[in-house]
Amino acid sequence: MIDEFLGIAGNVGETFLKSIPISLALAAVFTVLTFFSACNPGVPWWRKRDIVTDLCYWFFIPVLARYFRIGMLVAGAAVLFHITTAEGLIAFYQDGHGPLATLPLAAQMVIFLVGEDFITYWTHRFFHGAPMWKYHAVHHSSEELEWISAARFHPINLFFGSVIADVALLIAGISPNIFVVLGPITIAHSAFVHANLNWSLGPFKYVIATPVFHRWHHTAADRGGEKNFAATFPVLDLLFGTFYWPKGELPDRYGVDDRSRIILTVKDGKYVPAM
Ligand SMILES: [Zn+2]
Ligand SMILES: [Zn+2]
Repeated sequence: MIDEFLGIAGNVGETFLKSIPISLALAAVFTVLTFFSACNPGVPWWRKRDIVTDLCYWFFIPVLARYFRIGMLVAGAAVLFHITTAEGLIAFYQDGHGPLATLPLAAQMVIFLVGEDFITYWTHRFFHGAPMWKYHAVHHSSEELEWISAARFHPINLFFGSVIADVALLIAGISPNIFVVLGPITIAHSAFVHANLNWSLGPFKYVIATPVFHRWHHTAADRGGEKNFAATFPVLDLLFGTFYWPKGELPDRYGVDDRSRIILTVKDGKYVPAM
């Protein structure tokens, strides 16, 4: 029991330590870029009001995501393929399996990125619906949107909005080795789209999600907040009619403005948000 606890504590510490160098690099890069190209000039990110909240999510969410992912991969292999031994799991997942694993890693990466973005586009839209909004509102609660706000996710949102997509693609046969390259890129891109930058990347704004594209998503519902759902490829929003980019304007107000969407609950005889 003690050994198991120490093993878990060691893994948590390892995940935490791994995130420090990339966090410092992102902090340095976005501090400089925001100084020259802020979308909404104001105080630097480390002086935002809810910086402690952001830091807690930033370091805690990757640890939670890791355990969710491992748990679901073990459960998925047991239920779908009746694999229950440690050796069996390693052999099953180590280099992927089935036809997808025979493709070059670059091709698997493309399939993973497109598949993941398609799934998370729809789960994201689902989380904007009335029954799930209370969980996703956590992500939209940042009023001073900065790169460090990227990891603000309710565990329910993290699980059904991103972990499930990763697990589905790994169970389908994609090799986990793609994460060696994609892991740091995904973290950096997620921080990038939340960064306080006025970057739209010209015609590439349709190819890859940019800070202006995603910052519009974080505005109130009547300002674009129910648009731009794609995490990586805005073409999904073009395809499904949710692309939003008003000409000559930049997004400027963020947070959970539309409180009517939050589910209410009764507490002490009064209606209060059920968050
Ligand atoms: Zn959203
Ligand atoms: Zn966001």
